[in-house]
Amino acid sequence: MNRVRKGICASDGLAYGPIFKFERRELRIPKGIVKGEKAESEIVVFRESLQGTMEFLQKKIEEGSKQSDIFVAHIGMLEDPFFVETVEQKILGEGKNAAWSMEETGEELALMMEAIDDPYLRERASDYRDLKMQLLHRILNIPISDFSEMKSPAIIAARDLTPSDTALMDPQMVLGIITDLGGKTSHTSIIAQTLDIPAMVGMKDIFDELKEGQLVLVDTDQEEVILDPDPAQVQLFTQRMENWKKEKKRVEQRRFEEAITLDGKRIDVFCNIGNLEDLEVGLQLGADGVGLFRTEFLYMRGSQFPTEEEQFEVYKKAAEMLEGKALTIRTLDIGGDKELPYFQFPEEENPFLGWRALRICFDMPEVFQTQLRAILRASAFGKVLILLPMVISVQEIIRTREILEEMKDRLKEEDIPFDTSIELGIMIETPASVLMADELIRYVDYFSIGTNDLTQYLLAVDRGNQNIAHLYDSYHPAVLRSIKRVIDASHRQGKWTGMCGGFAADPKATRLLLGLGLDEFSVASANCARTKDIIRSADQKKWQPLAEEILTGESSKMIKEQLALHQD
Ligand code: PEP
Ligand code: MG
Repeated sequence: MNRVRKGICASDGLAYGPIFKFERRELRIPKGIVKGEKAESEIVVFRESLQGTMEFLQKKIEEGSKQSDIFVAHIGMLEDPFFVETVEQKILGEGKNAAWSMEETGEELALMMEAIDDPYLRERASDYRDLKMQLLHRILNIPISDFSEMKSPAIIAARDLTPSDTALMDPQMVLGIITDLGGKTSHTSIIAQTLDIPAMVGMKDIFDELKEGQLVLVDTDQEEVILDPDPAQVQLFTQRMENWKKEKKRVEQRRFEEAITLDGKRIDVFCNIGNLEDLEVGLQLGADGVGLFRTEFLYMRGSQFPTEEEQFEVYKKAAEMLEGKALTIRTLDIGGDKELPYFQFPEEENPFLGWRALRICFDMPEVFQTQLRAILRASAFGKVLILLPMVISVQEIIRTREILEEMKDRLKEEDIPFDTSIELGIMIETPASVLMADELIRYVDYFSIGTNDLTQYLLAVDRGNQNIAHLYDSYHPAVLRSIKRVIDASHRQGKWTGMCGGFAADPKATRLLLGLGLDEFSVASANCARTKDIIRSADQKKWQPLAEEILTGESSKMIKEQLALHQD
C-alpha cells in the first residue's frame, strides 16, 4: 500500500529510487581542565584542526565543487579572528580543553545567529554548527561519516544535511534528497539547488519511518513523497520524469537569452545576492544583473563595522564583474532582531517593528555615511543603484538625499570619481509605503517590492513563525492589490517597479505579475532561467485585463483557482 507524505519543495524535480539513510555519527565531548603546558598543547591541537579543515575545504574548491561558494564562506568564518580568539581564550583563560572550548564557542555563535529573525541569516547558525562538528572530528581524531557505503544511485534521507556532509557525497549518485528538518531557505535547500538535485525538506519525522532500500517517489511539484508506489504510479511517474528532464535542459540552454514577452516587452531578470560568490553563481545561471545585494552579510562576518575601504572593494569588484549590468545595493538592513557580534542592540518587545534599517542609519550617521561613500565610489566602476529598505515616509528619503548630496560634495572636493546620476530607489515592504506610493515615487527613481516583509506586515503574520506559516500567503488579495497599486503609481510618473521578494520567483505568479505591469524580477539565481522562460511564453497585453479581473477575487483561494485556469 502506498503512502503519501507532504513536505516543502526545496529544489525542483522528480526522482524515483531506493532510500539511503544518512545519519551523522554522535560525538561525545570529553570535558577536561588544562593548565600550563597542557593548555599550550591543546592550542596546537585546535590550530591543527583549523588548518586541516581549511585545507580540506580549499581542496574541494580547487576540485571545482559546486558548493565552492559555501566553502569559501566557511574558510572566511574560520579565519575570523573573533572566532579563533574566542576558542583560544577558553583554552588559555578558562582552562577548558580544545574539544570543550570548540563545542562551547560553536554553540554560542550558532545561538547568536539563531536569535535573528531573518530566515536567511538564521541559516548561519547551521554554518557554525557544521564547522564546529568538522573541527571536533579532527580534534577528537574521529573520521567524519561519509557516503562511501552508498554503492548505487539512491535517494538520501536524513534528519538534516550540512555542506560538510555533502562535500563527501558524489552528486552523480544522489537521485533526490528528503530531510525531516529545513525550510525553503535552509542549507539543505541551498545545497540541493546548487547541486541541482530534487529535494523535499520539512518532512517532520519521515526519517524514522523510512527503511533502508525502500522505494519512494519524490514529487516536488505536488510537494510530496510517495512511499512504496504501485507499478502503475511508477510508470506514469517515469514518463513525467523524462519530460521534466528534457524541459529543464531546454530552459537552461536558453538562460543567457533575453526575456522578451510574446508581445515584445523586454523584462529584466536579476538575481538576489549576499556576497561575491553568490554573484558569480548568478552570472553563470543567466542573471541580467543584480536586483538586490543584501549588504548586511558584510556587516555580520567581521568583528567590527566594515570600513569604507573594505566595503568599496566588495562593491567595486561586484560592479566590475557585472560589466555594466545593474548592481542594486541595498543599504544596511539590520537591527532589532538582526544582531551584530560586535554591537549591543537594545532589548525590544517587537524587534520587527523596532530600531532597524534606516532608523539605525539615521541614528548612527557615521555608519550610513561610510556605506554611502563606499557605494558612490564603486559607482564609477559600473552601473550601481542604491536601494533603501523599510521606508515609511517621504522624510526618510529627503533625509537620505541630503546625506547622499553631502557625500557627493565631499567626493567632488577630494577629486574622487562617482556616477553623478546614480539612481536611488526604495523597497516597498511596509503598508505605509504602499499607501504613500504616489507621493514616495516623486522622490525616487524606482521601486522594488519586498514581498517577504510586505506580506508579513500586511497580514500581520510573522514570516518566520512555523505555527502560522499557513497564513503567510502572498496570493492574499491585500498583497496582490498592494502590488498593483504600487506598480501603477510608479508608471503614472514614468518610473519603474521591480520585485525582489520571494514571490517574484513563484512560477505560478509570473504571468500575473507581468499582467500587473511589473518591470523587473529579482530572484534567487537558481530561478533565473525558469523565470525568463515563462516570461518569453507570456503575452503581457493579454494578461493585463486578466490580471485585473483575477484581482477582484475575494480570497487567495479564488485567485489561485482563477490563475490555474489561465496558465498557458
Ligand atoms: C523582502 O522583504 O521581501 C526582501 C527582499 O528583503 P529581506 O528578505 O532581506 O527582508
Ligand atoms: Mg525585507
